[in-house]
Amino acid sequence: MSRTGRCLCGAISYQIDAEPQVVALCHCDDCQRQSGAAFSTNALFPKAALTIQGEPAVYHTTGTDSGQDRQRLFCGTCGSALFTMLDDMPDVAIVKAGTLDDRTGYAPAVEVWRHSAQEWVAAGEGRQAFDRGLPAA
Ligand SMILES: [Zn+2]
Ligand SMILES: [Zn+2]
Repeated sequence: MSRTGRCLCGAISYQIDAEPQVVALCHCDDCQRQSGAAFSTNALFPKAALTIQGEPAVYHTTGTDSGQDRQRLFCGTCGSALFTMLDDMPDVAIVKAGTLDDRTGYAPAVEVWRHSAQEWVAAGEGRQAFDRGLPAA
């Protein structure tokens, strides 16, 4: 099944022809700063299933634990955060689930970087929570 999504202004849109491998709430400091929100909802897909229309801008960060490059792709016009690509997970595309056109069925199963979660954000019942990133598969 395929899903579509876009940034706020529509300059960048995308299609994904796969179901997510995992949907995770991320409380990391970088996600909080990039989104302006308390956490981001990140859906992990096989990178090959993602088709992007438009030219996202890229900001590079370094993974706190991995020391590896993270490419944070966003719309240079409206600023929407869209995707993150990790050098240490080259076959995975992380999609900011808030940019999907249809967000049904994307309840997160896990929470990562709980150690930097804002104090008012209680860990969700039934979600597996990790103090730091996802353990290496
Ligand atoms: Zn945009
Ligand atoms: Zn994060």
